[in-house]
Amino acid sequence: MNGKIIFATGNKGKIKEIQMIMEDTGMQVLSMKEAGISVEIDENGATYEENALIKARAVASCTDCLVMADDSGLEIDYLHGEPGIYSARYLGEDTPYSVKNVALLERLSGVPREKRTARFICAIAAVLPDGRELTARASIEGYIGDDERGEHGFGYDPIFWVPEFGRSAAELTEEEKNKISHRGKALQKMKEELRKYENNCG
Ligand code: IMP
Repeated sequence: MNGKIIFATGNKGKIKEIQMIMEDTGMQVLSMKEAGISVEIDENGATYEENALIKARAVASCTDCLVMADDSGLEIDYLHGEPGIYSARYLGEDTPYSVKNVALLERLSGVPREKRTARFICAIAAVLPDGRELTARASIEGYIGDDERGEHGFGYDPIFWVPEFGRSAAELTEEEKNKISHRGKALQKMKEELRKYENNCG
């Protein structure tokens, strides 16, 4: 593979993760800002896949390059899947995650560990230069801890416990997180799909 991928996000944490994961493809991953693209996107889909496709299509309408987008969220079983596809908007888009995380911990106060199960889900959508569309989905199972831990990552990472590491997602190194994360695994799946196509955008 060669050429450029424009990733439809403004989230620096995500761009960094995606650049690391796509490094071995030889493709250059650019944010919308780096590609000079600014477009209003209304994420009004009912599923992660729909939202990822909405973002990818909006950006693809501004470029001939391969465009990828993701939509992800945290589903907490005890809260019937909340915040789910509204994870970024939970308690307001601009509310700091320290506040969102404490609010979720309070809603789970006194709930025993076996009922604190949760997962991060990620859907990746790609719009290829020929107009073809692909999606891939993956998840990571864990549970909501009793407090916030760790300085790495972003968003809900400090309250998401990863059983196989016995640490919060924010206590994992970038490499550790990329190997097991919902986004990492969904991107690996998408990478396999993309290998089947030659991208000539340069
Ligand atoms: P999106 O940018 O619309 O996909 O929103 C996803 C939201 O889900 C993010 O803003 C975070 O709140 C949360 N989220 C998704 N992936 C992660 C992750 O890997 N760690 C922590 N929070 C995440």
